[in-house]
Amino acid sequence: MDCIFCKIIAGEIPADVVYEDDQILVFRDLAPQAPAHVLIVPKRHIASLDALDGSSEDRELLGYLMGKVREIAGQLELSEGYRLVCNCGEYGQQTVQHLHFHLLGKRQMAWPPG
Ligand code: AMP
Repeated sequence: MDCIFCKIIAGEIPADVVYEDDQILVFRDLAPQAPAHVLIVPKRHIASLDALDGSSEDRELLGYLMGKVREIAGQLELSEGYRLVCNCGEYGQQTVQHLHFHLLGKRQMAWPPG
């Protein structure tokens, strides 16, 4: 499959990995938008939030991933807060078609997002 994140997960493309277990990989974004910017990626290929079908496997995986955010934020020392972003589809400006969550921190965020 021609998916850059699947290649990172398979170890075919290098990445600055900050956390890994059997279900998720977390690595630093190549083009960081904040002093701390990592991508939290499920190892199983899912194209986007919109590709989730409500199956128990998807619910379990996403519940697991969300439950890990606090731990990863702690590892990155984001004690003053952080933002979790998931871009979906064209209007959401998703550029990599493998579900991922941006975890951003170590600066003051603004609202609304652009
Ligand atoms: P999105 O636009 O939400 O799909 O986010 C994709 C993100 O992946 C962007 O922030 C890119 O900078 C990042 N990205 C693309 N290729 C790589 C890579 N090889 N290693 C790390 N981050 C990457």
